[in-house]
Amino acid sequence: MKILVINCGSSSLKYQLIDFNTKTALAKGICERIGQEMGDIKHTPGDGEKVVKEVAMKDHEVAMQMVIEALTDKEYGVIKSLDEIDAVGHRVVHGGEKFANSTIISDEVIAAIEECNELAPLHNPANLIGIRACQKLMGGVPMVGVFDTAFHQTMPPKAYLYGIPTEYYDKYGIRKYGFHGTSHDYVSKRTAEYLGLPLENSKIIVCHLGNGASISAVLNGKSIDTSMGFTPLSGLVMGTRSGDIDPSIIEFIAKKENKSLDEVMNLLNKESGVWGMSKVSSDFRDINDAMDEGNEQAQIAFDVFVYRVVKYIGGYVAAMNGVDAIAFTAGVGENDWRVREDVCSYLGYLGITFEKEKNMVKGKETILSTPDSKVKVCIIPTNEELAIARETVALIKK
Ligand code: ADP
Repeated sequence: MKILVINCGSSSLKYQLIDFNTKTALAKGICERIGQEMGDIKHTPGDGEKVVKEVAMKDHEVAMQMVIEALTDKEYGVIKSLDEIDAVGHRVVHGGEKFANSTIISDEVIAAIEECNELAPLHNPANLIGIRACQKLMGGVPMVGVFDTAFHQTMPPKAYLYGIPTEYYDKYGIRKYGFHGTSHDYVSKRTAEYLGLPLENSKIIVCHLGNGASISAVLNGKSIDTSMGFTPLSGLVMGTRSGDIDPSIIEFIAKKENKSLDEVMNLLNKESGVWGMSKVSSDFRDINDAMDEGNEQAQIAFDVFVYRVVKYIGGYVAAMNGVDAIAFTAGVGENDWRVREDVCSYLGYLGITFEKEKNMVKGKETILSTPDSKVKVCIIPTNEELAIARETVALIKK
């Protein structure tokens, strides 16, 4: 079975064609700068060389056309015709309270996703454009929507409600939704499997630490709390996002700097976090290099990042009345030994014994705790595309 996974951003389109029988990517790539005068498509067939082609793509439909051409190209393509694609799985960022699970895409589903646009104005419209472009170019192929928010729909009201008048929840749906759900779902299940824990009787904390970062508490296989909220701005300190701050700071900065609300929000989303604090980079590879050179601002940014992770872990241990396993995933979680070592250096109180030597790995499933550690710590590389393909296959088989 071959599943095409599509992830549309406002000016980009990422794709991966997955052979579901072998669970491997036959090809992957990205179209960037869609809608601009000139853009490009970077296409990598299975184990082949990356092919980069400059091309103007006026919209996502043209980009989708380029993807189809790349996949079926005589030289670097990986399929003969589109007929070989059994289904398409679309990543959709926001499913609001409407979608607690992935779903086959129909006209009603598209209308329901559209109703969530207001909650994710940068992402959902782009996701919908991708869905429509695929429908137009791939006709009868079944399509499935997989939502970033769906996995967290199991959170109880005490976790998802904010301490503001409830009419704002009733009128506008203001609550915690959480994001990175596909990753938290995949990694928590894989952690249980990998460590031999019974999922239905387990307490797992997933630390998805990438450019965007979030933590979730997964009790008996279900998300009961997560650090991102109404939007992906809250929770951990991230590459360029502030994470949790005192909301009064927004008004204070706006007044002091004579900035509009939009400008302050932009500051919190794009100019804050590890980048804003260090003025070095939003990338942990650069932060590490700068720390090695004695850059104090980089060290402070790193310490603040780690400390926030540690506090969320502590909170989720309390929420679940214990923890069996802590999993690190995503770009930073999978690759940055220093982040993992520093986080775990705070966790002795949980009975964690951490093996520093084992921690010197990158991007590989690894147990980092000793066999007698009371709580297991591991690296579980996330694979959101494979998780989307899995959801897609499960639904089209029904
Ligand atoms: P997103 O999907 O949110 O864009 P990723 O999960 O791909 O993010 O993570 C990207 C981030 O991972 C980079 O910005 C960088 O901070 C971090 N990263 C990637 N490789 C390494 C590495 N070898 N060492 C430390 N950090 C890394």
